[in-house]
Amino acid sequence: MRPFIPLRVYYEEVVKEYEQGKQLLARYEKMNIPLISIQSHHRIQELRHLPNKEFTKMKKYLILGTRKTIKLTPNNKSGDFIVPFTSSGCTASCLYCYLVCHFNTNSYLRIYMNRDEILNNVKKMIIKLGEHRIYELGSNSDMVLENTITGNLRWAIEAFGKLENATATFATKFDAVDDLLTADHNGHTQMRISINPQEIIEKVEFGTSSLKERIIAANKMFEAGYRIGLNIAPIILVEGWEVMYENMFKEVKESLLPKLKEQLFIEIIFMTYGLPNFYINTESMPKAVNLLDKCKMRTKGLGKYTYRNEYRNPAEEIIRRYIEKYLPEEATISYIV
Ligand code: SF4
Repeated sequence: MRPFIPLRVYYEEVVKEYEQGKQLLARYEKMNIPLISIQSHHRIQELRHLPNKEFTKMKKYLILGTRKTIKLTPNNKSGDFIVPFTSSGCTASCLYCYLVCHFNTNSYLRIYMNRDEILNNVKKMIIKLGEHRIYELGSNSDMVLENTITGNLRWAIEAFGKLENATATFATKFDAVDDLLTADHNGHTQMRISINPQEIIEKVEFGTSSLKERIIAANKMFEAGYRIGLNIAPIILVEGWEVMYENMFKEVKESLLPKLKEQLFIEIIFMTYGLPNFYINTESMPKAVNLLDKCKMRTKGLGKYTYRNEYRNPAEEIIRRYIEKYLPEEATISYIV
C-alpha cells in the first residue's frame, strides 16, 4: 500500500494544542504541503459547494480537527457498540461507499486529535456496564489506513490490551498491518478483513489493497495472535458474480492459514447503493461501472437501493453453499444482511 500524501491539509487551530496535531502539521509543512486553517471540519466553505466532478480530487485532501460528538451507539452486528473513533472518511473511492451518503462529496479523510477523550468515553461505558462487550472502532473510516498516518490503531489496540471486559474490533480493506504485528494486544482485539473478488476490487474499490494483499495481511495478523473474521462486503450482483465469488472462496481456501480458517467468523453484507453515490460517481468517475441496477434493485429508505428478494435470496443461498464447500465447518456465519 502506497503512503497517503495529501494535496492539501485543512486544520482547525485547536489541533495545535495536541502533540499529535503539532507533529502532523510539522510533518506536512516540511513536505511543503499547503496547510490551510479552518474554523470547523464540518464547514470548510471552499469545499462545501464544489461540483461532484471534484470528488476524486477532494479525496486527496486531509482534514485535521477534533471530534465534537462522542456518543457510543448500541449495535448488534459486528460489535455491541460503535465507537465514533479517531477518524471519519477515507482516501479510497469505493463506488458504493456508505460514507458518501453521510458526507456527500466531503467524505475525505478527517482525523481527530482528541483520542484520549474518545477512549475515556469507552472506559466510562466499560465501568458502567461491568460486563464484557465488543467495541467497534472506525465504523466511519478505515483504521488500518488511518494508522499509516497517525499510529492511532496501534495505540488503541495497546490501550484495549490493558482493559478488562472489552474487545476492540475493526474491519479493513487495507493490508498495511505490519505496525500492528508487534502491538501488545493481549488478545483483546479482533480484525475483520473485508474481501471481494479481485475483479470487483479492481472495478469498484479504487484505492484499496488487492485480494491477495488482504489475505496476506489476515495471515500475518493471525500469526501475531489476533482473532480474525471475514467481512464479505458488500456482495455486488454484477454480471458473472457467481463465478467471481466462487473463485474468491477458492482463493480464500487455498491462501488462508488452516488454523485461521478454523476460527473464522464471517459477516455477509449485500450492497446498499445510494443516489448520492450514483450522482457523484457518474460525474467524477464517468468511466466506472454503474452499480445502480434498477431491474435487480428496489428502494430501501430515502435515496437508497438494495437488491430485490428474488435476486438477493438465491444469491444468499449460493454464498452459503460456497462457505460450506470451501471453508471448514468450524467457520461460522455471524450475520447476513
Ligand atoms: S475503504 Fe471503506 S471507507 Fe474507504 S472508500 Fe472504501 S468503503 Fe469507503
